[in-house]
Parts: sequence; structure tokens; C-alpha cells
Amino acid sequence: MSEKIHYFDHAATTPTHPEVVAAMLPYFTEHFGNPSSLYGLADESREAVDRARGQVAAALGASPAEIFFTAGGTESDNWALKGVALANREKGDHIITTAIEHHAILHTCEFLERQGFSVTYLPVDRYGMVDPAAVEAAITDRTVLVSVMTANNEVGTIQPIAAIGAVAHEHGVLFHTDAVQAVGNVPIDVDAMQIDLLSLSGHKFYGPKGTGALYIRDGVAIETLVHGGGQEKGRRAGTENLPGIVGLGAAIERACGDIPGHAARVAALRDRLLDGILERVPEVTLNGHPTERLPGNINISFAGIDGEALLTLLGMQGVCASTGSACSSGEEAPSHVLTAMGVPPALARASLRLSLGDLTTGADIDFLLDALPDAVARLRRLSRGHA
Ligand SMILES: *Cc1c(COP(=O)(O)O)cnc(C)c1O
Repeated sequence: MSEKIHYFDHAATTPTHPEVVAAMLPYFTEHFGNPSSLYGLADESREAVDRARGQVAAALGASPAEIFFTAGGTESDNWALKGVALANREKGDHIITTAIEHHAILHTCEFLERQGFSVTYLPVDRYGMVDPAAVEAAITDRTVLVSVMTANNEVGTIQPIAAIGAVAHEHGVLFHTDAVQAVGNVPIDVDAMQIDLLSLSGHKFYGPKGTGALYIRDGVAIETLVHGGGQEKGRRAGTENLPGIVGLGAAIERACGDIPGHAARVAALRDRLLDGILERVPEVTLNGHPTERLPGNINISFAGIDGEALLTLLGMQGVCASTGSACSSGEEAPSHVLTAMGVPPALARASLRLSLGDLTTGADIDFLLDALPDAVARLRRLSRGHA
């Protein structure tokens, strides 16, 4: 057993950056006023919320009035889908999404289907890529929304978002993207990418958990999900999570301040790790797109082994990784993402997701390159057919 942690699960969550924590702290104590109150103490809280709204807007190329704070990526996804579906009932009842979305999208779509909406789940190619032409072919005169994630959380594939947005708009259909994995890793510009609604989550880019936002383009019709007081212009009720909002703003400004620099550092470590694995371990396949992928993502299948067993072996040595999405671990079925990409069930169950980020050091790469070949070899010796 090793005491030291080697963290390869940045796609599941990241630690809140110390500068972000420092920015948040005064808003638990001195500046605790309710932003909706009318006395002086509340002014500082209101200004802090406005500042954070500006920081989020700047990171997306949006205007502050188009940013609405939520309790995370899951809530933003729920709001975008349910809100647009409910507000556009007279126009239509059809939503287009993909087979590889996060469960926050897929389970919301299944709920909407139970309410009488119809949903098309577009297939992807073997790299996990959505074809804009397939989006266009699926659009009917009943379609009100297209929702395609910017980058996939399991395999890292980055979608042709601008092309998909253009197709949706040519047909007068709204376009939502779950950009939870992309923010901080891929530059976002909601105008250039023709995005009408965008979900993001603080804890995926070194901000606090339970914080997020939904970008809603000015003029987009959307129903309110959380009813109550008049916060967020009456569209998302509940006393603002003041420290969380301050943290979200500080985190997104930090994460989007130097995306090329961050991406280059992480991708260099990722490439060294991937090249090392391919060199040292036989019968390995990379899942996801070879180039159009998140800088910190490696998803690989090791023929003949069980991914969960590999995770357990690595976990005993302090390695934190995942077999896909954290939310699906423990489930019997292989990853819906790998399955949609046509990866055979045995190889899908033999997959490991390593997601790199700020915590990753060269020493972590060296450690894993040392530990992984032995772990894979041990499991292969144990499993029949690879004796
Ligand atoms: C993590 C994640 C979510 C959920 O965000 P939370 O803030 O954890 O609710 C949604 N979509 C994607 C792609 C994610 O990676």
C-alpha cells in the first residue's frame, strides 16, 4: 500500500484551487449578507454576484444578463432540456440528442419521453463523433431542441459544435451543449459556436462542488424549473449560494485565462503517458478520437482483463482513476458511450479512463508507467485465455 495519491480522475472532479478558496472565504463570514436585502451589508454580496456573473460571461463570450447560476452541471442540463421542452410545447415536442451524453442529459430525456415528448438519440462513429449531417437529417418540423455535448466525459471526443449549431439554426431549432468537460480545456465562444444554451459546472475546473451555470441566449424561451423567490430575474429561485458563486467566478476566470498553456502542459503529460503505455503493454486500444480529444483524457482498453479489477489493483497503490463515468461504476452494463461507439462488450469492460489535469506531475506519469504494465500482466495471467 502506498500513502501517496496519484490522481488520474480530473474528469470526475478537481480540487478547489487555493486561490478560489481564498476568494470564497470572506463570503462565508464578513460578507454574508443576502444579495436580495436592501441594506449596505447586502451591497457587497450583490456586487460579488455581479462580478462572478461577469467572469462567467467573459469566459464564454456571452453577456452577463445571459448567465444564470445553478447548483451544478446536472441542474443546468435538467433546466435546459425540461425548460425548453415546456416553453416550446406549441411549436413541437421533439428533441435531438446523442447516445453518448452524460446521464444528466439522457435520464432527463427519458423523463421527457415519459411525459409525451419524443427524443432521437443520434449514433456516433467509432471515435465517438457526431455527424452534423445526421443532426440535420433528424430535424423535423416538430423539433424544438438539439442537445450535443461539447466534449465527452468518458472518451474525451470533442464534437464539431459550430457545425452542429449552424445546422440547428438553419432549421430554426435551438441548440444546447453540455460543456461541463470542455470549459477550461477548449476555448468557448457562444456566438462563433452558435450555442443558445450551455451548461457548465464549477467542480470540473477547480471551483467548488455544487456550483454551476446555464447560459441562456437573450430571447430564448425557457420555462423556470425552481420556483420561489425572485432571484436570478425570477428564473431560478432560492437564496444565492454566495460563496459558491464567488468561487465559480474566480475558478472560471483562472481556468480560462490561459487555455492554450494549460492544454499544452496537460497534453504533453498525456502523450508521454499514452506513448509509454502503448510501448510497454501489448494488446491495448485507445478509445475516442485520436486528435479531436480533450488534452487530459486517455481511455484505453486492455484486452482480456476486467477494468474494475484493474482499478482495484491500481487503487491499492494510490492510483485514482475510473472505468468510465464515476456515476456508472458498479453498474453491470458496460459503458453506454463505448457501446455506442461499437466497442465490443468485453473490450468496453476492459477499459480504463485516466484523466489528467493540474494535479498531474511527471512523477505521477512515471509511477503509473511503472505500475500499470505489472497490474495488467497480473490480471491477464489470472484470466483464462491469456495464461
Ligand atoms: C460532471 C458532468 C456533469 C454533471 O455535473 P455536476 O456538476 O457534477 O452535476 C454533466 N455533464 C458532464 C459531461 C459531466 O462531466
